[in-house]
Amino acid sequence: MDWLIPLGDVDFGAEEEAAVLEVLRSRWLTMGSVTQTFEKEFSAMVGSRHAIAVNNATAALHLACLACGIRPGDEVIVPSLTFVATANAVRYTGATPVFADVVSELDLTISVQSIEACLTEKTRAIIVMHYGGYACDMPSIMAFAKQHGLAVIEDAAHSAGAALEGRGLGSWGQVGCYSFFSNKNMTTGEGGMLVTDDDAIAGRLRNLRSHGMTAMTWDRHQGHAWSYDVTALGYNYRIDEIHSAIGRVQLSKLAHNNARRAQAVAQYNELLLELAPSITIPFQSHRGLSSYHIFPILLPKGGDRLAFMENMKAERIQTSIHYPPIHKFSAYAELDQSARAPLPITEDIVDREVTLPLYPGLSEKDVLTVMQAVQKAMS
Ligand SMILES: *Cc1c(COP(=O)(O)O)cnc(C)c1O
Repeated sequence: MDWLIPLGDVDFGAEEEAAVLEVLRSRWLTMGSVTQTFEKEFSAMVGSRHAIAVNNATAALHLACLACGIRPGDEVIVPSLTFVATANAVRYTGATPVFADVVSELDLTISVQSIEACLTEKTRAIIVMHYGGYACDMPSIMAFAKQHGLAVIEDAAHSAGAALEGRGLGSWGQVGCYSFFSNKNMTTGEGGMLVTDDDAIAGRLRNLRSHGMTAMTWDRHQGHAWSYDVTALGYNYRIDEIHSAIGRVQLSKLAHNNARRAQAVAQYNELLLELAPSITIPFQSHRGLSSYHIFPILLPKGGDRLAFMENMKAERIQTSIHYPPIHKFSAYAELDQSARAPLPITEDIVDREVTLPLYPGLSEKDVLTVMQAVQKAMS
């Protein structure tokens, strides 16, 4: 499909190209000094003690669950309104995800009341997801977790560069997980990052990232080690120097690009009120500093979403849905959500949500074009 305005677009230029070439010419491609520098720069941006780069955020979430000690038989509370990887990571460990509702149609992040309703004796952790880069109510969630002895993992796949009370999203819980997939607000193609302030958790994450080995190929190349032990059942979830090199450049542009996204969102909000007042706009007021990863809108109740999206497509404007809720997927039917807390708000909005194009290079003229198409599609 030849979109006039795509849903998203990457911001790659000469700097990313030069960074990749430099790695190729260095002749050291696997995890090494570029990755170490990327990790240092990322942890400085977030404000965490440790950052551990991995091959994607799904791997990050899996390692986060393992490092927090989640085991078969445990329950982990997760939102249903998220990408399926959030819940899959729990299932990789043999634990069971239990789905919580979101706050309201104006705040699509996990609800503390709903978390409370999901709590059982088996609950071991909560995974929150900062939808669209908008902060969950972390002070309340952390207080609740502390009271009940639960770990908190942040799925920060949308929220690189976002913050709450001046504190980076991803650095509130025990572990934060970021994605650098191609459609995220900073990208390396495939890639991910873990952050934590806990030295023991960081050690476990580093160990599990590379087969549970005590020394890396890089250490041996540096002449620091001859052999190694394997101390746990680990994985190969490593990133490589090419991806890390792209990540360093993307990180240097992140604040600026998030601000460009913010501008487009401000213009969207203004025009929507004027041209399509029956549409609900979540997060018009929100906590903290968003990364503005995506721009979700909610069609009026009883509206025909498919027809709306088809009308937008006829204008060559790409839209999407975030998300088909996980508890409705076939692969999740066996978990029997019916025995669990109801999810009335998620159920109410799932057929109404549409995501409009958003990326740093989206111009004022583009936003106007999208809004005129929305107005037409609504009439
Ligand atoms: C993209 C995404 C993931 C998975 O990220 P990958 O890097 O593609 O594995 C997990 N959770 C959320 C909310 C996402 O949007």
